[in-house]
Amino acid sequence: MGKKKNKKAKVNAASYTGIGTTTVVNTNNAWWENLNGPSIKQPYIYKGDLNKTDFPEFIKVCRFPQKNLKQYLVREIEKYGYTPIVGDGFLYARSENCPVLLTAHMDTVHKKPVKDFYEFKTEKNGRNVHIISSPEGIGGDDRCGIYMILHILRETDLRPALLFCEDEEIGGIGSNKFCSTGYHEELCDLKFFIELDRANANDLVFYDDDNVDFHTWCEDQTGYRENFGSFSDISNLSPATGVSSVNISCGYYNAHTLREEVIVEEMMDSILMTEKLLTAAQDESLEVFEYVEVPSSLKWAWDDYDDYYGYYGKDYKDYRGTYDYSQKKSPEEVVMMGIVFLTRDLKEEETFISGVTEEDCIGQFILEHPDICWNDVLDYYFY
Ligand SMILES: [Zn+2]
Repeated sequence: MGKKKNKKAKVNAASYTGIGTTTVVNTNNAWWENLNGPSIKQPYIYKGDLNKTDFPEFIKVCRFPQKNLKQYLVREIEKYGYTPIVGDGFLYARSENCPVLLTAHMDTVHKKPVKDFYEFKTEKNGRNVHIISSPEGIGGDDRCGIYMILHILRETDLRPALLFCEDEEIGGIGSNKFCSTGYHEELCDLKFFIELDRANANDLVFYDDDNVDFHTWCEDQTGYRENFGSFSDISNLSPATGVSSVNISCGYYNAHTLREEVIVEEMMDSILMTEKLLTAAQDESLEVFEYVEVPSSLKWAWDDYDDYYGYYGKDYKDYRGTYDYSQKKSPEEVVMMGIVFLTRDLKEEETFISGVTEEDCIGQFILEHPDICWNDVLDYYFY
């Protein structure tokens, strides 16, 4: 997962020192916690065996810097019969026998490659699982997706189209570049796209794709459930090609922090689900799922705002279940938000954002802090 580049300037805290209060007020943030899990205020303790793993292939994929990973993937996919097309910002390979695109991104938010890692055996929901973490940040977002694709190629004869993108985390750069090459037109005949780049265990995320038949079909095939998301590479790919897409959970948690964890068994579950969708796509009777853009009435946009606020339209629609929108103010009024969060080196930081409404402020915070996990938000207030 990632973010769209923000074009709206953040309000500098210094310019607001003369107004309001900077005292942190404890708000009732039950809706926030429902959405994001409890705040994590304690330093993370890495648990398990140090640098010992039952999944050496996964660790190998986690260790590569982006550039080396791209070179590695070229060699790997050649082994499986593909002819890699190496482009600026992406690595692409045409479908060989399965009319679906599999995509994942090669960058991670972490500054250093994985050196040490911990593998912790425990129980979750009545089954034994392995949880992998690293003091450098394990980078399951999105090395899980990369590993899953390689695993499918290694274990099956399925040969869908492949797209590995660079720099998703800083605004879908690689997928944008791909869509400017013309290669994306080759994807227009595929039945749907699968991105493997979603946190958690059983989410399906469709972004601005409102093809309900596709949502229902994916839910029925996998038993997973639709959830919301802000932006990912398929947010570029589907509008550019007119083909529906889904982002599937990969079993990583606490993305964008050094506390990131991968639950290997949950990642493996999603490998099986992905294989199921790929196999179903080979059935001749299954037709192309066409991208249907969410109606603009469900998008979040003021006249003078950039289109990209629309990326949050679906999110806001989904937030409505837990958030009181009656506080919405008129466009002329400005809402200030103070927000306190933990930085990646576990220091408390406070920032200030102005917006038209409270939800607009939250949206901007999301866009401007790709490295901050929701769990890192300690408190926020409006004035
Ligand atoms: Zn990601």
